[in-house]
Amino acid sequence: MDIVILAVVIAVVALGAISGLVVSSRKKKQLPPAPPSSPSVTAPPAEPHVGEEAEPSTAQPRRTVEEVELPAAPAPAEETAPVVEPETAAEAAAPAPAEPEIEVPEPTAGRLVRLRARLSRSQNSLGKGLLTLLSREHLDEDTWEEIEDTLLTADVGVTPTQELVERLRERVKVLGTRTPEELRALLREELLTLIGTEADRAVHTEPGVGVNGEEKPGVVMVVGVNGVGKTTTTGKLARVLVADGKSVVLGAADTFRAAAADQLQTWGERVGARTVRGPEAGDPASIAFDAVKEGIAENADVVLVDTAGRLHTKTGLMDELGKVKRVLEKHGSVDEVLLVLDATTGQNGLVQARVFAEVVDITGIVLTKLDGTAKGGIVVAVQRELGVPVKLVGLGEGADDLAPFEPEAFVDALIGD
Ligand code: GDP
Repeated sequence: MDIVILAVVIAVVALGAISGLVVSSRKKKQLPPAPPSSPSVTAPPAEPHVGEEAEPSTAQPRRTVEEVELPAAPAPAEETAPVVEPETAAEAAAPAPAEPEIEVPEPTAGRLVRLRARLSRSQNSLGKGLLTLLSREHLDEDTWEEIEDTLLTADVGVTPTQELVERLRERVKVLGTRTPEELRALLREELLTLIGTEADRAVHTEPGVGVNGEEKPGVVMVVGVNGVGKTTTTGKLARVLVADGKSVVLGAADTFRAAAADQLQTWGERVGARTVRGPEAGDPASIAFDAVKEGIAENADVVLVDTAGRLHTKTGLMDELGKVKRVLEKHGSVDEVLLVLDATTGQNGLVQARVFAEVVDITGIVLTKLDGTAKGGIVVAVQRELGVPVKLVGLGEGADDLAPFEPEAFVDALIGD
């Protein structure tokens, strides 16, 4: 019996052991899959952190922050993208600074008539003064002397004064009794003869043909002693041209005066004209050359070149202006050389005119500061001196206070009509 019981116990234990082995072997078989799963996903390392599964959610934001931070450049781009909507962007970005500043200059026609009151001092001394004297009942020698003095004081110049007095004497004698209207008409006629109505006073800015057969803008050189209003006049002239429907490029070749280029550029910006400028104290001739080059490239109508006027060394001036002109001519013709003179400087202005005329061929005169001077007669004197017409007159510091010179309107302003 005991043997039987023992045998049964052994059998049970054996069975148990066998089944245990099977179970354990199954378990072992199940394990292997685990190792292979660990290399396939680098996640296993993550898996151990699965407990930190909350972390991935916190880690993710970190990643996104990094991504946002890195594309910090793209991000603003994205931000600007909606702002930079095609039309609004174009309008807001480019023209915004310039557009509000671009002005529409006043039309040039009739400017002298509009500004006639500015000639008040010349009106009183030259125009009305002469009329009062001529209206005296007895035109004795003293009166004729006074008439002569009036003309000389107004800077008409000695020879033109003598000529005019001579003509007036004759005509008054012929006239006999004089009505105020007759006297005014007579004086008007004689002053017009003195100033000249036949001269071509147009500022020639018509485009021409360049040296390479290309279309070239009209080229205008503006010369004059510093302080006469040369840069201001160049700026005002740009406005005159823009008012007449032309496109303009400015050349800041006055590198002598540091502020001149800035000043000119400001004038240009106001009417949308580009200014070509060089380094401070740079070579004026090369700036002038570049300005015309730019004018050709832009297909501009006119290039205005502002130059420096250092009168204290005539040779230096001659060298510089001569060089600027020669260099400009490498592109083709220079259509105008305008000499700017300050009307208030009288004889000094005539001396300047003489010197400049020796240096370059002046084609036209601009008389500035005719407002506030009694010396309107300088128009006559300077034309005589140079044999060149006054083409423009400056009648104030305002942007549109530069007027084409019209003899009739000028004389009418002097003596009243
Ligand atoms: P630049 O050195 O010859 O270039 O002289 P600017 O152009 O700088 O002008 C000198 C001064 O003259 C400035 O204050 C101008 O405003 C003034 N000016 C220019 N033209 C006229 C004018 O026709 N009338 C008056 N009253 N002042 C003028």
